[in-house]
Amino acid sequence: MPEIFAQVILPLSLHDAYTYRVPEKWHSVIQPGQRVVVQFGAKKFYAALVLSLSENPPQHVELKEIVQLLDEEPVVLPPNLELWKWMAGYYCCTLGDVFRAALPTGLKLESKSKIIATGHDEELEISEKEFRILEWVKQDVSTLDLLQKKLGREFSYAALKSLLDKNIIQVEEKVSAKYKAKTETWVKLHPQIKTEADLQTAVETLQRAKKQQALLFHFIEKTHIFQAEQVFQIQKKMLLKGTVFSTAILNELVAKNILKTFQQQVSRIEEKVSKQADLNLLNKYQQQALDETKSCFEKNQVTLIHGITASGKTEIYIHLIDEVLKQGKQALYLLPEIALTTQIIERLKNVFGPKVGIYHSRLNSQERVEIWKKVLQFQTKPKEGYQVILGARSALFLPFSNLGLVIVDEEHENSFKQFDPAPRYHARDMAVVLGKQNNASVLLGSATPSYESFYNALAGKYGLVNLTKRHSSMELPEIIVADLKRAWNKKQMKSVLTPELFNRMEDALNNREQVILFQNRRGYSPFVQCFTCGWIPKCKNCDVSLTYHKYKKRLTCHYCGFSIAMPDECPECGSPEIKSRGFGTEKIEDELKPLFPGKRIERMDLDSTRSKNAFGKIIHNLESRKTDILIGTQMVTKGLDFEHVSVVGILNADNLINFPDFRAHERAYQLVSQVSGRAGRKHSRGKVVVQTAQPEHPLIELIRKQDYMAAFNTQMAERKLFKYSPFFRLIKLVVKHKNPENVNRVASRLADSLRKNSSLVILGPEFPLVSRIQLWYHKEIWLKIHPKLPLAEVKNFILENIEWVRNQPDNSSCVVNIDVDPV
Ligand code: ADP
Ligand code: ZN
Ligand code: ZN
Repeated sequence: MPEIFAQVILPLSLHDAYTYRVPEKWHSVIQPGQRVVVQFGAKKFYAALVLSLSENPPQHVELKEIVQLLDEEPVVLPPNLELWKWMAGYYCCTLGDVFRAALPTGLKLESKSKIIATGHDEELEISEKEFRILEWVKQDVSTLDLLQKKLGREFSYAALKSLLDKNIIQVEEKVSAKYKAKTETWVKLHPQIKTEADLQTAVETLQRAKKQQALLFHFIEKTHIFQAEQVFQIQKKMLLKGTVFSTAILNELVAKNILKTFQQQVSRIEEKVSKQADLNLLNKYQQQALDETKSCFEKNQVTLIHGITASGKTEIYIHLIDEVLKQGKQALYLLPEIALTTQIIERLKNVFGPKVGIYHSRLNSQERVEIWKKVLQFQTKPKEGYQVILGARSALFLPFSNLGLVIVDEEHENSFKQFDPAPRYHARDMAVVLGKQNNASVLLGSATPSYESFYNALAGKYGLVNLTKRHSSMELPEIIVADLKRAWNKKQMKSVLTPELFNRMEDALNNREQVILFQNRRGYSPFVQCFTCGWIPKCKNCDVSLTYHKYKKRLTCHYCGFSIAMPDECPECGSPEIKSRGFGTEKIEDELKPLFPGKRIERMDLDSTRSKNAFGKIIHNLESRKTDILIGTQMVTKGLDFEHVSVVGILNADNLINFPDFRAHERAYQLVSQVSGRAGRKHSRGKVVVQTAQPEHPLIELIRKQDYMAAFNTQMAERKLFKYSPFFRLIKLVVKHKNPENVNRVASRLADSLRKNSSLVILGPEFPLVSRIQLWYHKEIWLKIHPKLPLAEVKNFILENIEWVRNQPDNSSCVVNIDVDPV
């Protein structure tokens, strides 16, 4: 019998795969893509992933055995692993980094993963070892690390896995902790009622309570109790829907131990799908765009749809997905997290029904594992698995087996980029790679394409399809530029509103139309200041001023969350006159209330959408016209579609234009267009008022004319001159340490040694706009790389230099992050 060795990836930032001996009992079943438990380091265990198998061990090393095989079938497929490798190479990170980003926490079992009891253990049989683990878990000894420590040799991975399989314990994800799982009330017969005769008796006892009796009959009818096709339980809302029965009557029956109500978690993936609808017929422009897209696909071209807001890009995506499904292939539809609203989910579910799965970070870890498994299932049982996934960037990693199409909508969005931790990948670019690797078509769509993608399209590298007409002859909104300076000087401002904006808002509201206002700052005011001595409170961990949140009466850091109570008097000079400066969404809400009495104003920003359903509720209120004015940050720009919004106001465009970043103008243009796209989508022509203190700024003029091409060309000229993307490739290095001297020393050394390569253009090191975050000082070095240079070699050169500088005396505690294609 030859021996078998497995090369595994550990969920750690390690550069290599590690080899373990496979015990003979698993020789016939082990496959790449399965998870195994291995020991690494003194006493740590990890769930690792089998990358490959071989019969030849590496020489001169002592190998440990795999402790446990966790999966019967691979959970990651060979094409997924190809993407992982590509990603690690391109973004200069480790396979372990990609592993951690790729798998949902529930499949990862990191040693710091928190394990919780689900409470489903009452009727299930468990072994002695399982019992011991469960006992500790219930006492809140909750990480894998701690369990191993407490149980010592009694800890068994097999028992842990068995508990997980039986859903007695779960691996909890940190982010999901603040979201409550959605539950619904269900109704069943009380367990005391076991036979038809029992039920008969129950009916009789209700002779004097006719309504309760009628409800019981209704329940019997709905559930077919004691008939062949009986269902045992029914959702409360389904039971009472369309009837005269109230919850009070139901509660009476519950009190009499005839019926029983209980809470059941609704897995959102099983939410009942409304009736499946046919595809919309495309209008002639959409049909043409669809045909053009398909002919680009035939030439194997990645294709960019440049279609103005409400031109029907989503309709085209739906048609393309439909065709792919008919070929028996899978489709992936990526959207920025925040654009994954019920609106788009419903549109897709209406057409594709249960074939669609949704994957994003607001799901809990269990839900994500379920979706992962249903995508996997498509390979063996296509009818039961998911064929279409609508998801945020991490949906890229799902185990597709037969991918035919990848769509990246709102492809210009920088939330497709993962900033921290590594891999610092861009989902749009990875979608292109994923498509190539799987021989799947790739479609990028936007009303305001990123300049990188548009450049690629003009250069012929991507196919380009234009869609310049809004559906059903809606017009693009009219853009009005309002001069803030003049309005101030003439004392015409009403709070933050110029007369141009105020008057249009009034007209709209009088017509029962709605208004959206955009301001890219949340909180009450971006900072407060002592009126007497000029003192401005700053974060103790970061190099930023604290934002005032009036509702909570606190000053908060938006970088690290540090927060203090708003002082009554200045700690420097004792003056009580501390004034708020600038306008955040909260303050605008406050100030608009008296200006528009009786109108309902709502706010959409990070603070008002923290709870799981808040976001959906705000959207619902706007849709159902419960809200008259919505004030929001970036969140209001994302692909929402409202019928009655006729005025959109950009309160301060200068914040956008003057931002010190080479992409500031691109972003400002995108933002204004996207927010404008919310105006007048259904009925009359919408109006957008852009308030600015620099109405003569060339970009403002281009925004007014909605001239994407001219804005693009202006920027391209600058970027070419100053060697920015897309003409040069960019890599950003960030040196971090708690001690500013260390940062300075390491960053300078690193930059000096990189400069030995004279073909690279190197900027810095320099402190970024915010040079200290959470006590860590940051310094950046930017590299501009000519497209003709061999990128892989340049990256190696950079990695070697980082390695070298960190190996110098006293430097090893510095962190150096590498960010390829920073945004
Ligand atoms: P985009 O994705 O380009 O912003 P959408 O696909 O959301 O545009 O279309 C805007 C609105 O017009 C949506 O409400 C959509 O349902 C409607 N619409 C677009 N095309 C059609 C069509 N061919 N038939 C029916 N409704 C359409
Ligand atoms: Zn003071
Ligand atoms: Zn801070």
